Amino acid sequence: MEKILLDMHTHSSFSPDADDSIEAMYERAVSLGLKAYAITDHCDINYWYPTEHYFGDKEDVLDKEMYGSGKYCTDSINEQSVLREKLQGRLEILVGAEIGQPLQDIEHAEQLAADPRLDFLIGSHHMNAGVADFYYLDYSKMTDEEIRSLLEDCFAQTLDMCRWGKFEVLGHLTYPLRYICGEYGRTVDMSCYEDMIREIFCTLISNGKGIEINTSGLRQKYGRTFPELDTVKLYRELGGEIITLGSDAHRVNDLGCGIAEGAELAKAAGFDRVAYFRKHEPVFLKL
Ligand SMILES: [Zn+2]
Ligand SMILES: [Zn+2]
Repeated sequence: MEKILLDMHTHSSFSPDADDSIEAMYERAVSLGLKAYAITDHCDINYWYPTEHYFGDKEDVLDKEMYGSGKYCTDSINEQSVLREKLQGRLEILVGAEIGQPLQDIEHAEQLAADPRLDFLIGSHHMNAGVADFYYLDYSKMTDEEIRSLLEDCFAQTLDMCRWGKFEVLGHLTYPLRYICGEYGRTVDMSCYEDMIREIFCTLISNGKGIEINTSGLRQKYGRTFPELDTVKLYRELGGEIITLGSDAHRVNDLGCGIAEGAELAKAAGFDRVAYFRKHEPVFLKL
């Protein structure tokens, strides 16, 4: 197995679904000997303020534990900026964040994207407009047609996000499959969405943006990367040049997991280098 090069997608306790401190994550990255490392805490932009702001005390809100992502993400960026100074010379640390569905609150999205401390922003789509995170939906009760329409909306909204494009890479393009296929065992015919995915890639490429190979699926029931090999190949065939690798670790022990396999997959798709970002500019590491 090859050496783990970098990990450009991880979460600390400033994300609502992760527990380990930034310092603990940094120490782990040093001990793994990574060349570059980023914490990318969640900023689901439609939850910039705490949930009560949007829903009052309504009982039937699915994303109940959602939080004021604006404050948490900004606090994370503050702490990353301070702590990385302490680790200078031991590891190249990039200050990052994962922005979710930016078009659902464009004003705060623009504000976050312009934060001068950021090196690297992942653009992700975790929930369709007006619908809960894909994580919360019950796919056992949906018809195939309902799932198809959910995914069509997902890719259409992802395309709109890519047209906005104020981020470096598109996060886990096929995220809903973690739940639809991995957790609920439903079958999805991805060929239905190929034209949309092509358009997403052409948009990213013309804006000089990349995609990530998110390796979290390898350690989950889904068992594959987001997106998988054929889709990464398509990005390459269309002229895509920028790939990052991310474990999407939500705890110290998952940091770096699957990165070596992700690097192999990138090679199989025709890449001989992967990127990380310093002040929004790509730096390439040879595979
Ligand atoms: Zn995500
Ligand atoms: Zn993430």
